Amino acid sequence: MPEGNEIHRYAERHAAMFAGRRLTVDAPNGRFEPGAKLLNGRKLLSVDAYGKHLFYTFGTNLNLHIHLGLYGKFRDGAMPFPEPKGALRLRFSTPDHWLELRGPTACDVLDHEARSTLVNRIGPDPLRKDARPKTAFTYIAKSRTPIAALLMDQSVIGGIGNIYRAELLFRAGLNPLEPGKQVPQPKLQSLWKDAKTLMQAGMIDRRIVTTRPADRPHPKAKARRGEIHYVYHRAGLPCFLCQTEIHMKEFVGRKLYWCPTCQPPAF
Ligand SMILES: [Zn+2]
Repeated sequence: MPEGNEIHRYAERHAAMFAGRRLTVDAPNGRFEPGAKLLNGRKLLSVDAYGKHLFYTFGTNLNLHIHLGLYGKFRDGAMPFPEPKGALRLRFSTPDHWLELRGPTACDVLDHEARSTLVNRIGPDPLRKDARPKTAFTYIAKSRTPIAALLMDQSVIGGIGNIYRAELLFRAGLNPLEPGKQVPQPKLQSLWKDAKTLMQAGMIDRRIVTTRPADRPHPKAKARRGEIHYVYHRAGLPCFLCQTEIHMKEFVGRKLYWCPTCQPPAF
């Protein structure tokens, strides 16, 4: 599933291609037909990302809301359209560009009130300038839930997925199963700052690289494929810092990776 860095990148890219333009909107597989009719011919004003949600604001109190989920995919390009293939939920275009959307978890039209209700349910997003992380810190400080589950809970913090979760915890030296309330506040604050830095970097080159050059087996080269993460997808391999085998377990339906030596339990 794309993490916040990719969702924000889509927001920027789609705004650059389509904002300020009147769009031709259709729904080739029919499932989004009523929504497409509402939006067709209207001007797109702006595109915003909150966590893993995208909002396309049109005039007259209309917001297109998209959540890609596990299977959703965008494609775009210069006109003319390619042949419509597969279950194409939404398509929009200007005389210059087209955009296609397949397989999203959510694709619906919301008024401003419904949009605000939804946005208010999303936790602060490290990639948004207006994010107020204090609400997340306060919530985590009261929770017995393991920090690894809290970081993935989109109502606590928006936009962190499985890769950033694993890597942020490693870089913070935090055991993933530590209950939220045991995590010292300064540690949470530095984890938030680290999330901002890593996710912003992930927006620029789309590749999520979380290892510091000095920690990689080839510190002088550009990060090689097997060296871009400390723990994510590295189960059974030696930790770059201490050589301990990286552990992996299924946890709340997703794979969780950590180094038992660099991330010891605090008690
Ligand atoms: Zn280690």
